[in-house]
This record gives sequence, structure tokens and C-alpha cells, in this order.
Amino acid sequence: MIRTRKDEDVRRCLNCGKVIVGGRPDKLFCCARCKNAWHNARLRFQKNQRDRVIARLLKNHEILTTLLQLRMYSVDFPDLIEMGYNPDYVTGYRKQGRKSVCSCFEIRYVQTPSRISGLRKGGILSEEEPPYGKKK
Ligand SMILES: [Zn+2]
Repeated sequence: MIRTRKDEDVRRCLNCGKVIVGGRPDKLFCCARCKNAWHNARLRFQKNQRDRVIARLLKNHEILTTLLQLRMYSVDFPDLIEMGYNPDYVTGYRKQGRKSVCSCFEIRYVQTPSRISGLRKGGILSEEEPPYGKKK
């Protein structure tokens, strides 16, 4: 019996798309150059993503630092957004009833749907400590 190769059995290089001839059945690349190019592109993409997230966090931190310098410990959300703050980028987050406690590095605040309040420098948010504003 002659075994025919179905279309879905054709393996294509992840980098250039050429049909892979020979080698192990789980071979993903046509050659070492394609393998290196694909991995380098992936690393570059991951680094760019990291850099974008870090840049967003640093911008948020800068805005919160400015608010603290101005002694503005409560701010309405629209004003915060207008300043360029992006609430999707925080370094810590914990649900506390209907509120959320968020932190951006060492700065933390309580977030409700309409505003942030209780803005202060308060260390990194950790799982072990008691709820925001309460002492053990
Ligand atoms: Zn290739």
C-alpha cells in the first residue's frame, strides 16, 4: 500500500512558510537561520510589550506623584483620565467590598467607579497585610 501525504500533513516553516522537507515530524523551521530569526522576532516583540507596559506604569506613577505634591488626595475619574492616567496599569490591585485598592509601585489609593481617594505613599500592596485603612 502506498501511503499518500494529506495536505494537513504538510509542515511549513513558522518563519518563512516554506514546506519543511525531511527531519523530525515535529520540526518547526526549514533551517537554523529561520529558527533564529523567528526566536529573535519573538524576543523583540516581548521586549517591546514589556517596555510599553513599563512606560505606562511610569507615566501613571508620575501623575500620582504630581497629585501628591499638589496635596490632591481625591480626584474624580474624568479629571484623572484627562491628565493621561490609565487605570488599567497598576502594580497592585485588591477588591475590598465595592471599592478597589490599587497601587502603582509605592503609591496607593482607593478606587470607586467615579473617583480615586485616599491617595498616599504606602508601600507595596501585599496579600498579607490587613485591609486598607484598618489596623490589625
Ligand atoms: Zn524557513
